[in-house]
This record gives sequence, structure tokens and C-alpha cells, in this order.
Amino acid sequence: MDLSSLSVGEIHKLLIQKEISAQELLGEYLEIIKKENPKINAFLEIFEEEGIKQAQEVDKKIEKGDKISILEGIPVAIKDNILLANKRCTAGSKILENYIAPYDATVVKKLKEKGAIIIGKTNLDEFAIGSSGEFSAYGVTRNPKNLEYVPGGSSSGSAAAVAADMVPIALGSDTGGSIRQPASFCGIIGFKPTYGSVSRFGLVAMSSSLDQIGPLGKNVEDIKIVYEVIRGKDEMDSTTVSFSQKPVKERLEEIKIGIPKEYFTKGIDQRVKEIIKDRIKDFELSGASIEEVSLPHTDYALATYYIIMTAEVSSNLARYDGIKYGKSLAESDKITNLLDVYFETRKEFLGEEVKRRIMLGTYCLSVGYYEAYYLQAQKVRTLIKKDFEKAFKKVDILLTPTSPTPPFKLGERLENPLTMYMADVLTVSANLAGLPAISLPAGEIDKLPVGLQLIGPAFSENFLLSVAQLAQKIWT
Ligand code: GLN
Repeated sequence: MDLSSLSVGEIHKLLIQKEISAQELLGEYLEIIKKENPKINAFLEIFEEEGIKQAQEVDKKIEKGDKISILEGIPVAIKDNILLANKRCTAGSKILENYIAPYDATVVKKLKEKGAIIIGKTNLDEFAIGSSGEFSAYGVTRNPKNLEYVPGGSSSGSAAAVAADMVPIALGSDTGGSIRQPASFCGIIGFKPTYGSVSRFGLVAMSSSLDQIGPLGKNVEDIKIVYEVIRGKDEMDSTTVSFSQKPVKERLEEIKIGIPKEYFTKGIDQRVKEIIKDRIKDFELSGASIEEVSLPHTDYALATYYIIMTAEVSSNLARYDGIKYGKSLAESDKITNLLDVYFETRKEFLGEEVKRRIMLGTYCLSVGYYEAYYLQAQKVRTLIKKDFEKAFKKVDILLTPTSPTPPFKLGERLENPLTMYMADVLTVSANLAGLPAISLPAGEIDKLPVGLQLIGPAFSENFLLSVAQLAQKIWT
């Protein structure tokens, strides 16, 4: 059976109508994983035995005529910075090579309660730091659309696993674009919810005021199903809130789409612009009204992000010191004093990019520089948030490209970190403002995918996803 085009809802139907068993279903996915993963390196670990046992249980339930939830028996992949009890959680870093998670992240607990089969942990840039999938200590992940190209990052494994049909859905995390940008590069959908709508309990922290967990999949319905399960206030994460949703729209005629002019200026590949403009025309022809808007502080977004994010990274990653967590050189003969335990352990087990971020962040937080960098960046962050609030008084939703370029070649941006940072220029603002944003496939350049981003007001996910669904209808 060709699973590649089936949605979770369709698979669910096949299961309850007994046209396929949960064991057969899992078997098909495992076969694809075994064939594709050696080339792509999307998965770091597969839980085949547990998966099969779980699928057997689902089949028994169906046999007995018990009701099953829509996610029951559906294989899901989890980014390896999300804790799964009693399994390794490396966060893509050598320093956590032997770390076994003592509990389930809230999102995992919720998926398990619905009977989803957590089939494996996916590769990522170390500590979710990166835009290409090349910064993992466990090897690069390749783009399933063309193995010479990067899949984007940092949720590289989750995006590649979905794009290569190894799983129908996966979870990633997004601090500055890490769900949307790899979704764009791999030709799938990636959704970053509003900050505070999904619990971060059990997510290895990168930058706590920006991080958010979200789903990756092939159609908006699947994204919605997963989001509905994982969202909600959690007493284990005090930044989560309960909220009521903005009403959904059923017709594009009722929707006003804003096009921020600053997202179509310098640095955006001309071919990307053309594709996005074509999609804007599609919206217009389908009845949506289109209006140009301005987000005047957009130019400062990347700099602001790289100050706040590195500051929080330096503080969050201070716990990997060779004493509290993870691997340590404390017992090594080379070490003669406490300070060297810290220095040598971090030198040995943390990657170059992670060290660069820690140093930048520590610098931004230092006495004498704090006011000039961190404090100033927090003020600009507020201005960026206000830009969006103002725009959403005029329009319902914003439309931009997801990434300024199509996927780039493996190795192409490794020499110059700034070119790598540019990959996030269109995604970081949604994190700084805490807004929900989704990347949808919009077209191709030389057979490489290009994504389109929709950004909604805070806690408007129902509405945002309904617009994404309408867009999907135009394009399929
Ligand atoms: N690529 C961005 C960075 O390197 C975003 C990472 C993320 O969203 N986790 O910081």
C-alpha cells in the first residue's frame, strides 16, 4: 500500500475498517525507515520492538470492537531534544551521549495517552542550534528531495523523516525557525504554535523565552490533530496558559491577508519572490483581499534574536559542566583541578557552533555590555511585537516567504556562520513576538522546495490553521 499520500484521518479509517492492521501499517513504515534512513540519517534511534507490541495492542482493541482515538496506532517521530522516559536523549550533542531521560515530556505523555506509537528519535543540530542539520554530533541529515542538499534545521531529522515517508507526522522545536525552515526545505508543513500554548516541560532548553514545540506533517488536518492533542495549560510549565480560540473562517472572501513589504526586499532570492507572488495571486483570485503592510523594525529582528537567543543559550547550557549532567572528564588523568573539569569537559564534548553561541551570549550578558546589548535587544523585541499588533489591527494574517533561499548544498555555508544565520531572517520575528506561524509548500526551484509562511495573531491557531486549510484546497 502506498502510504505517502495518506493523511492520519485516512489511515485511521483504514484501521477501523480493518483494511489494514496496525501491525501491517507499522511494518510498512519500518520498511521505509530501514531503506531510507541509512542514506538520510533522519533517525538516531528506532523503537521497533516496543512499536510492534503497541501495534499488537491496538489490533486487539480493534478486534474487540473498542473505540480507538484518531492517533491510536499512528507512528510518530520525536526530535531528540524532547524527553521520552527511559530512552536516550542526546539533543544532538556528545555531552548527552549517555543521558537517559527519567520522565516523559508533557507532549510525549499526551501523545502516548492517545495511543500514538513513538517510533523513534530524530536527528537535530546540537541543542537545536543551527539551520542546516549539519551541526549534529551524530552526522549530518540529508534532504530527501536531493541528497546533496541540506534539509534545513534544526528539526532536520523530523522534517526529513516526514518528507521521506518514514512517518506521517513528527514533533520538532522552533526557537527561531527550526520547525518552519526545515519544513520549507523538505517540501512539507511545519507549525510553530503561540508561545505558551504548548508545554515545554521535557524539552531540552535552548532559549526559554523563544522555544516552542510543534508538529510537522504533510497536510494541515494532520498538523491540527497533533496540535489539538499537545496544546494546553500544563502545571509543569508555568509559561503555558489556557486561552479561547479566535473563530475560524470558512471562506477566503472573509479574509484580509497582509503582505509585509520588508519581507520582500534585499537578500531574498528573486525566484523565491516570484513563487510567493504567484501564491499571493492565487489567494487573490480565490477571493481573499490582499493589502501591503509595514513591519518597520524587521531589519533589527535577526540582530535582536541573536542577542537574546545567545544570552539564553549561555545561561541554559551552563548546566552541562561535567558535574551536574552528561559526560564528564572529571575522572580523567589530565584533570588536576575543578576549573579544568568545566573547561576540558566543555571543550571536548560541545560542538564549535554551540561554543560560539555560549561565548556570544556570555559577552552580551557581561557587566558593562549588558545594557548595550541584552537590555537594548529586549526593548527592540517589544517594538517588533508592537509592529505585529499594529499590523493585525488592519489585516487578519500575514504572508511571507519562509526562507530567503531554496535549500543550499551541504557544506556550502559552514565556513561563514553569518551566511548560515541569514537562513532565519524571515522566521525569527514570530518567535520574538511569540506568534503562531506555519510554513506551507509553495513551489519548487530546480526541483527543490520553497515554503510560504503564514503568521497569525497570538493564540489564533484555529484561525491560522483554517486559512492554511483553505490555501491547501486552492493548491491541491
Ligand atoms: N536556526 C536558528 C538558530 O540557529 C533557529 C534554531 C531553532 O529554531 N532552534 O538559532
